[in-house]
Amino acid sequence: MSEQVETFEFQAEAQQLLQLMVHSIYSNKDVFLRELISNASDALDKLRLESFTDKDLQVDTSDLHIEIEVDREQRSLTVRDNGIGMSRSEVVQLIGTIAKSGTAELLAKVREAQESNAAELIGQFGVGFYSSFMVADRVSLLTRRAGEDEATRWESDGSGTYTVETVQEAPQGTAVTLWLKPEEAEDNLFDYASEAKIRELVQRYSDFITWPVRMEVERT
Ligand code: ADP
Ligand code: MG
Repeated sequence: MSEQVETFEFQAEAQQLLQLMVHSIYSNKDVFLRELISNASDALDKLRLESFTDKDLQVDTSDLHIEIEVDREQRSLTVRDNGIGMSRSEVVQLIGTIAKSGTAELLAKVREAQESNAAELIGQFGVGFYSSFMVADRVSLLTRRAGEDEATRWESDGSGTYTVETVQEAPQGTAVTLWLKPEEAEDNLFDYASEAKIRELVQRYSDFITWPVRMEVERT
């Protein structure tokens, strides 16, 4: 039983940044995974902190981790954490807008930059969650905040709008699923549905992560 699906428009600056991602002017698309892993890691840090400071919070913090799953058949990639999660209003606030003060400046710089420099700029500023749209044509996020019963599903194809829906049941934490662009897409340099590719990227980007990163291997 899920409640009514609401459609929202991305805030103007968010839309600009998204457009840059969708048309992926960057040569280094790999960074999308770095961004997702670092968000998951932040969420685990936040949960641990909150469980120390809020004694009423009933959460199991014994197995905090990040999980990555590749589904070759569906061409999807999921990054899941059992961290703090987000409430419905947090999803709309945090994912639909850009709170960072330097974003306008970043957008201007990126527009002027050469492709190679643009990638560097991304590294510097970190474009975060939206970088998923460099490799995916649809992204969905299912999240349940620690301490809350209801969960939220967010979904977007990276054009001007996104949908938000309340869902009755979901594990605590956040799962981000990327529906990968078709392999034959002109700008798809790598096959991100390849387990080997993801494994390589996880190794590269999880070095700075203190939480365990697990990868589910599909058996065929
Ligand atoms: P940044 O991480 O620099 O704040 P992002 O675009 O990567 O920017 O993420 C925006 C916000 O969305 C985060 O600050 C966080 O509040 C929220 N968020 C993203 N991913 C997750 C996640 N896996 N769990 C909980 N919150 C998340
Ligand atoms: Mg981030």
